[in-house]
Amino acid sequence: MKKNNVNSSRMPVYRDSGFELYNAETTADTFKKEAEHEREPENYIYSRYRNPTVVSAENEIIKIEGCNWALLTQSGMSAIDTALSIFQFSKNQKPWLFFTEIYGGTISFIESVLKVRRGLDINYFEPDNNKYNLGKFEKVISDLRPEFVYIESISNPMLIVADLKEISAIAKKHDTKVIIDNTFATPWLYKPLNEGADIVIHSATKYLSGHGNLTAGVICGNDMQIMHSAIEYRKFVGHMLSPDDAYRLQTQMQSFELRFSRQCENALKLALHLGNVSVIDKIWYPGLTSHPTHIIAEKQFGGKGYGAMITFDFDGKDLTEKRRRRDSFIQSVSGKIKLIPTLGDPSTILMPVEAVWGAKYPEPGMIRLSVGFEDYNELEETIDMALKAL
Ligand code: PLP
Repeated sequence: MKKNNVNSSRMPVYRDSGFELYNAETTADTFKKEAEHEREPENYIYSRYRNPTVVSAENEIIKIEGCNWALLTQSGMSAIDTALSIFQFSKNQKPWLFFTEIYGGTISFIESVLKVRRGLDINYFEPDNNKYNLGKFEKVISDLRPEFVYIESISNPMLIVADLKEISAIAKKHDTKVIIDNTFATPWLYKPLNEGADIVIHSATKYLSGHGNLTAGVICGNDMQIMHSAIEYRKFVGHMLSPDDAYRLQTQMQSFELRFSRQCENALKLALHLGNVSVIDKIWYPGLTSHPTHIIAEKQFGGKGYGAMITFDFDGKDLTEKRRRRDSFIQSVSGKIKLIPTLGDPSTILMPVEAVWGAKYPEPGMIRLSVGFEDYNELEETIDMALKAL
């Protein structure tokens, strides 16, 4: 069969579910090599195992993250499942340690799947007043000796920045692996693998793809043994990303740094601006000196930026007034700042914290903003108009 030879500069979308192996000899040879679980095989077999378009998008992430390997999955959650499940053993299973300030979906996965269904020994570590106490952390790690510790680099919605260098050093001392969900910081702000982390996870649904139009996840690392296990797990449970989504992710990642740097810039300007608004009581943003982890953010991100998420709370004489202000604000900005339960979109979007987290956070007027890369002055104008009307 004549192959098309088009002078395209892009990796095509290879939608083949199975790839042609020609004869018994190449088939036997290809399947033999498959057992080695290489990321970029010489011959492809089946798209659930490996797909050339997905490998091409992974190569872009390797460049951005500066790591040895990256594996794409269908969602951030399937990346999390892959990263954790490779450390699940039927014998001599060590406990697992999770920081409490992690994505609610991850907590649900831990509680419902890891604890109830898989019966694993799960432990949590809590912050004190929106800051992690490393002395306490070391005590927990040395007593528990967990297989790994799981942390988010910037937590949600209080935006606590974890001192990952210190945390990794403590964990290493006690032979504990470090798994970091770096979705909120992104590799533009920080690359935890350079400072001792073993696995980095991203929900690529967020900043890496950045347009609110696809669901994907990725796990990255340097250790090849971990990679081989993860490739095997992804293949057996069918967590592989589709070639169409990999193509779109790769294309959209071309503007990742431009988008995210602008989002961080807009967020810092907006956080400073909100600090002067009388109807706003508190603002949580790691770029503000008032945030309990500002100094850690400054050190860790080298002053480059502080992320693009801001949480704030409305002032009010009582809880009813705080809630009323929150609801009026959401209503007033609704044409321009939409209530969409995700983050990292091109335009600024918001979420009422109480509606998602319930009573976990005592301030009911809280709103979480995911700041976009739109024109800053227009964004400020929209917010100011809504605030004036309160
Ligand atoms: N990690 C973080 C920090 C998240 O915020 C999310 C989703 O919001 C996930 C993981 C899960 O990602 P996905 O929705 O792509 O499965």
